[in-house]
Amino acid sequence: MDDITWLHIEPTTRCNAWCPFCSRNVDGFKLAPGLNLEDLPVESLEKRIKEFPNLKAIQFCGIFGDPCAAKNIDALLECAFSFDKIKTVQIQTNGSLRKAEWYAGLPERGKHLDLLQVWFAIDGTKETNHIYRQGTSWDKIMENASAYIGAGGNALWQFIPFEHNKDEILEAFGISQSMGFSQFRLFENDRPKRGGKHYRTGEPLNIKPWYRDGKEPPEDTQFWGNTYNERGEKYVNTGTLNTFVREANCQHLRERSVYLDAKNNLYPCCFLWWANCSYENTHINIQEEFQKKDYRNYCLSFCGSTK
Ligand code: SF4
Ligand code: SF4
Repeated sequence: MDDITWLHIEPTTRCNAWCPFCSRNVDGFKLAPGLNLEDLPVESLEKRIKEFPNLKAIQFCGIFGDPCAAKNIDALLECAFSFDKIKTVQIQTNGSLRKAEWYAGLPERGKHLDLLQVWFAIDGTKETNHIYRQGTSWDKIMENASAYIGAGGNALWQFIPFEHNKDEILEAFGISQSMGFSQFRLFENDRPKRGGKHYRTGEPLNIKPWYRDGKEPPEDTQFWGNTYNERGEKYVNTGTLNTFVREANCQHLRERSVYLDAKNNLYPCCFLWWANCSYENTHINIQEEFQKKDYRNYCLSFCGSTK
C-alpha cells in the first residue's frame, strides 16, 4: 500500500445518461441486471485515503456511474480536498448533470490543489453527441463547461470517435479551443463494441467504433463474456492475440493506482472488477504475476501487448 499514489474511485452507480456500451446498462436500454443504485459512503473514502500514506491524487470516475450524479458528491469532494497530501483531483463527467453554479464554484473549492481538472466526455457536436451519450443535453453541457472554465477551471474535452462523429473531430476541437478547454483528447479504440439500443424504445442502433487506420477487430463478438478461464475470470475476447503485458501498459503499475468501487471494495484497476479480483477476495499481486509471466486473461485482453 505504501507505493500507491493514485486512487480511482467510483463515487456512485447513478447516472442520467444511457451510453450503449457502458457497464451500467444493457446496450443502452435498461439497467444492468443486479446493479444497485448507491453512493460511496464518505466515511469509506476517508478511511481509504488514510490507508495510503503516499497518496497524491484522487480520480472521481468509475465504470458504473457519473460522479456528478452521486447524492453525496459535495461531501466526497470535501473529504478529498481536506487532506494535505492530496495534490490532484480529477472529475470525469458527461457534463449534463448539476447546475452551472455548481461548476462555477469548483475552482475556488479546489484552489489549494496543484491540479483540479474536470474531464467532460463529449463525443461530437450538438448534432451527434447525444447519439452515444444518450439522455444528455448539449446545451446544458455547454453551459456547465463554460461556467467552470469561466471561473478559472481547468477542463479537458474527452472525445471518443465513432463512425457517426468521425467527421466532427476538427469542429469539436475548434469549439473546445474557443471555449478555453486546456486539452482535447481523442480516445481511440476505447469502445470496440457495435450496435447499441435506443434508451427509450429499445430499438437497435447502428453505433460503430472508428479506427484511424481502418483496421477493425473481427465483427464476431459471440465469445464476448461467455467463457471463463481457470481462475474463474470471465474472458473478454477482444480479438487480440496478446501473450504478455508490459508494465508500462498496466495503469495499475504505471500510475501506482488502485480502484475503489461504490461498495468500498478495492481492486488493482477497474478492469479487474469484472474478474472479482478485489484485494479482499483474492490474493493478488500484479507485479509478482508479471514477473512470473503469469498474466490474467483480463490483463491480456485489456492491456496486453504483442510486441
Ligand atoms: S455517462 Fe458514463 S456512467 Fe453514464 S452511461 Fe455514459 S459511460 Fe455510463
Ligand atoms: S487489467 Fe491487468 S494489466 Fe490492465 S491495468 Fe488492470 S492489472 Fe494492469
